[in-house]
Amino acid sequence: MHEHKEIKVRQLPNFINGKFVETGNTFDVLYPITGEVTAQAHAAGKAEVDAAVAAAQAALHGPWGKMSQAERSKMVRAIADGVNRRFDEFLEVEVLDTGKPYSVASHVDIPRGAANFETFADVLRENPTEAFRMDTPDGLGALNYGIRHPRGVIGIISPWNLPLLLMTFKAGPALACGNTVVVKPSEVTPSSATLLGEVMNEVGVPEGVYNVVHGYGETGALITSHPDVDGVTFTGETVTGSIILKAIAPTLKASSMEMGGKNAGIVFEDADLDLTIKELGRSCFLNTGQVCLGTERVYVHQSIFDKVADRLVDYAKNELKYGYPDEESTNFGPVVSDEHRDKVLSYYKLAEEEGAEVLYGGGAPTFGDERDGGSWVEPTIWKGLAHDSRVVTEEIFGPAVALIPFTDEDEVIKLANDTDYGLAATFFSTNSSRVHRVAPQLEAGIVWVNSWFLRDLRTAFGGMKQSGIGREGGVHGLEFYTEMSNVCVKI
Ligand code: NAD
Repeated sequence: MHEHKEIKVRQLPNFINGKFVETGNTFDVLYPITGEVTAQAHAAGKAEVDAAVAAAQAALHGPWGKMSQAERSKMVRAIADGVNRRFDEFLEVEVLDTGKPYSVASHVDIPRGAANFETFADVLRENPTEAFRMDTPDGLGALNYGIRHPRGVIGIISPWNLPLLLMTFKAGPALACGNTVVVKPSEVTPSSATLLGEVMNEVGVPEGVYNVVHGYGETGALITSHPDVDGVTFTGETVTGSIILKAIAPTLKASSMEMGGKNAGIVFEDADLDLTIKELGRSCFLNTGQVCLGTERVYVHQSIFDKVADRLVDYAKNELKYGYPDEESTNFGPVVSDEHRDKVLSYYKLAEEEGAEVLYGGGAPTFGDERDGGSWVEPTIWKGLAHDSRVVTEEIFGPAVALIPFTDEDEVIKLANDTDYGLAATFFSTNSSRVHRVAPQLEAGIVWVNSWFLRDLRTAFGGMKQSGIGREGGVHGLEFYTEMSNVCVKI
């Protein structure tokens, strides 16, 4: 019997100009395990967003703007240390907001959140700009070289699935490049961004450099339409991304957009099946399927279709353990909210209407305890769905996967690419010629071979088609987090 922990309802103020600001206009943050209220976030209105943007503008010209690059890198690394020092607190609030197991948040969310500051701290020092010598009619020539400037105030609009990780993937490079930020975390998961405000003060980040405002889409819209915000970086749904692009158009801001996906997996007949099931299983079910890079449709060569289907069902049955987040064996939590549970379950129903055979799951578990108030769904595996069914073409963002047979390589590449999205693809093969032949033909910003979710932060991250505009990661993020000027010196 799991001991019920009394939840003390926390207040989550905004963080503006180095100070915590309550507005009294609160909204509840719920614990997806049981549905209890865990926090009340103070929604920011126009006055708070204006104050945050003004503080961020002022900070560009204060001590932060005057810091040497080396000093700033040191401070960004200190933020990583600060997160690690308070690792357990970050873990606690991330779990309360998302319901995810400690085993996931302690390996993925918090360490990768800290790593985003550590890794990007030296991004400017590590990536040279270009230099071109050119000829001139007088024979003396001219020298061109590029200089990177911070873009200015960056608005960061982030989602709920990996709250700290995805927000810091933007805040890390933004700060390392000398920008200041106004963050609007998801209304569903506002805690870790707020706690990070305390870390900023502890490590001496000047006031106004890092600001957090809470609220729903309306608060986000106050940032995206704000004339003094210089760039907007967004991660979330494609529909929201499109609304944001409209909102930034009148003030001509730069943007970086990471959006939805309907990522394909492919299992070729020559795949190493032990490895395939382990990696594919993770890619379908990690974080209860709420990973933008996760796999929701898997094309399996017909010669091994039944074997792969059976083994994936065994994986779901034996490897995924529901439970309370603090139980060591738990690796499968609820989805983030009742609203999202209802969306996922509506696809479970639709799958059956569209002719799916449910190989595993297909519903919501019941526990006979307080967890029945939470937002749970079962991991689910289908076969028999048509490639053009809604379940196979629309993003579900849950722990569900459709298995579809294929017969040859050209056919499966077409099937994988036949989508409006283009975020990630994952395929399994032991034939090295095939690996290098297939990988470049997949229309996805990130292609994994015989693996999934392995991320070197120096590499490009982003989506093709409706999954994204622009790339973050390593030198690529500099396109957005800096503005380049070319200096041309006539010799
Ligand atoms: P969402 O689009 O509903 O919300 C994302 C953020 O946008 C939230 O902070 C929300 O409050 C804000 N927002 C909503 N309307 C807004 C508006 N009009 N103006 C400004 N801000 C607004 O997304 P979500 O449900 O939080 O996240 C899940 C989605 O994110 C999925 O589609 C998933 O694929 C996608 N995602 C993509 C990536 C990636 O890197 N491509 C990573 C993670 C998640």
